[in-house]
Amino acid sequence: MIERRQTPPVFKSYKRYKPYLRLDFYFRCAYCGITEYRWGSDRNFVVEHFRPRSRFPKLVCAYSNLYYACNRCNDFKSDIWPSALLLKKGYGWADPCSSEVYVEHLSELEDGTVAARTSIGEYTKTHLRLNGRLYLVQWRRERRELIADLDATTQIIEHVRLSAANFSQAERRNLALLFHSHHKLCERLRLEY
Ligand SMILES: [Zn+2]
Repeated sequence: MIERRQTPPVFKSYKRYKPYLRLDFYFRCAYCGITEYRWGSDRNFVVEHFRPRSRFPKLVCAYSNLYYACNRCNDFKSDIWPSALLLKKGYGWADPCSSEVYVEHLSELEDGTVAARTSIGEYTKTHLRLNGRLYLVQWRRERRELIADLDATTQIIEHVRLSAANFSQAERRNLALLFHSHHKLCERLRLEY
């Protein structure tokens, strides 16, 4: 769940909040989760209104209503907002600022698609075409595989570290190098995926 850490000044143009949103949303789209690195830099990301401008004009510049989104999610979300009847039935947008969307409302499957766990998840998945965009499905699948590989390597390294007391100085140095490069890989994965 996104917890805002920035306290920007008050701006008259909502677009000026973009640098603050980038940090608060960890350089990722609030909805599909794709990273700037993967989606061609921050030029392809916009300041998105969770509650659409057309229906909630008072919230146009309210920081709490501004989300960081990729241009595709922004296009699909547009100014769509559930009707009173749909809201009553439990449908609506999954909000990454008030819930862990990919745990509570959606589940990632092994093949890279997502499945809805709730009506909110269903509404969000359908409107944002979360399975209809093949690059997203492929990216999720790649990420799952990379995380599984790195987890397996982490376990092996931890296992080897337990025996390090009996290692020679050279072996300990090699282990430290291995640990360092593994850590760098994990960091890179976190940023790019
Ligand atoms: Zn997106």
